[in-house]
Amino acid sequence: MIAIENVHKQFGALHVLNGVDLTVQKGEVLSMIGGSGSGKSTMLMCINGLEGIQQGRITVDGVEVHSKNTDLNKLRRRIGIVFQQWNAFPHLTVLENVTLALRKVLRKSKEEAEAIAVEQLSHVGLREKLSVFPSRLSGGQQQRMAIARALAMSPDYMLFDEVTSALDPQLVGEVLDTLRMLSKEGMTMIVVTHEMRFAREVSDRIAFFYKGQIHEIGKPDQIFDNPTKQETASFVRSVL
Ligand code: ATP
Ligand code: MG
Repeated sequence: MIAIENVHKQFGALHVLNGVDLTVQKGEVLSMIGGSGSGKSTMLMCINGLEGIQQGRITVDGVEVHSKNTDLNKLRRRIGIVFQQWNAFPHLTVLENVTLALRKVLRKSKEEAEAIAVEQLSHVGLREKLSVFPSRLSGGQQQRMAIARALAMSPDYMLFDEVTSALDPQLVGEVLDTLRMLSKEGMTMIVVTHEMRFAREVSDRIAFFYKGQIHEIGKPDQIFDNPTKQETASFVRSVL
């Protein structure tokens, strides 16, 4: 379980997260939606400790992310994260991209790392691309490689930050299909997305971010059909 309690985050004078409370249960798919600058990406970075917080608490299965005593590297192995772009090491092949952390971080043997990498790359439909360099992949294939790389570490949680935003429209579907597959397999996921139809279809709950807070949270039907807050209604109208 990921538990976020009254989290405040500032960049200098800018208050970006303003008291966020949220619990994500094991197996849940939670989507974060909201306008540009509302704090969604910052929230994800705080969850895996890439950003500090000024107030509040985030725990992952009881481990406090921002405690001095927490081994962040160990914690991060359990939380895979995939960004909008720049997910690949350009000088490494697809196979090497996926085996790198398995070898360097998890200290797996070459054989074991490659076996895991091939399994995960096959899982996302890239079995044929093992020896190719990322520049020869389509954007959608690059994102699927990044997902395979994260999955290879056997994370308990996956965080996705607008993983389809940089893609040509015809490539969005294949990446969303990969996320759908993970959700069906029971992966616990937090998905920041502008793909509202997708969010509606896969999410157990949707959190609407507004001015650094979760302004409204609920099941997809509530958020899209019966929002209780006026700001949610106008955001949803503007993006549908
Ligand atoms: P978008 O939908 O455009 O991706 P977002 O909801 O992900 O927006 P964030 O990236 O979390 O928004 O940014 C929230 C606010 O924090 C913005 O005003 C942004 O400019 C600011 N911000 C984010 N990162 C930093 C940083 N490293 N230093 C200073 N300000 C930052
Ligand atoms: Mg963002």
